[in-house]
Amino acid sequence: MKNRIFFLLIFISLALSVFAINPSSKPIRILVITGGHDFKVDQFNQMLAGLGDNITYKIAELPGAYDMFLPENRSKYDVLVFYHMWQKITDEQAKVFADCIRQGKPLVALHHSICAYDDWPEYFNIIGGKYFHKPTVVDGKEYPACSYIHDLHFTVRIANPKHPVVKGIKDFEVFDETYKGYYVAEGVTPFLTTDEPSSTHVIGWAKKYGKARVVTLQSGHDVPTFENPVFRKLLKQSIEWVYNSGKNQK
Ligand SMILES: [Zn+2]
Repeated sequence: MKNRIFFLLIFISLALSVFAINPSSKPIRILVITGGHDFKVDQFNQMLAGLGDNITYKIAELPGAYDMFLPENRSKYDVLVFYHMWQKITDEQAKVFADCIRQGKPLVALHHSICAYDDWPEYFNIIGGKYFHKPTVVDGKEYPACSYIHDLHFTVRIANPKHPVVKGIKDFEVFDETYKGYYVAEGVTPFLTTDEPSSTHVIGWAKKYGKARVVTLQSGHDVPTFENPVFRKLLKQSIEWVYNSGKNQK
């Protein structure tokens, strides 16, 4: 009898400790940075709201959103999600922005945020890529201007099935915009590709910037992708994966 009570107590304490460390008990607070590009706000927000109880969101629009990168505001959110195409940034704003991520704030960068900050090369470094609106030199190599095509059906291929971001996801179809000719930094970990000829081959990758995990997804132009359940799963898993490296940091 004593033994039974002993094991019961062990079981209860184990159950309680699992509950205490269960990440679903504390939602991941994402801060979505927008500005500089139109999009269907209601449907985009529906996608964010549909990421599950484990993820809550707030939107901050640039340039006012620059304040959210300041040290005193960094504890107000857990993960940055970029859906902006902003261009103007001062040296001081650029320093605070880069420091915020370098010091450990995780980031998921979506779609046209690959096209932001034409004249700030450190941004290419942060997200590991860049769509060029004009011929641009990176690391001594000149890249011509890129091109885009709207409204294409194409297949997204899982290039790295073991990566946690694509766990449980198989090749899937999207109706989205492609970008061709953008820069993808050496050393990133690609996990999505496409054979669509109007697109650059690699369309999803992971990297680190300082202490932070970063994921960049090229897809996400419009409502068909916002409503695509596989894309939502990919976005959710991206947010969870980048967060897992930074949850002990302020
Ligand atoms: Zn677009």
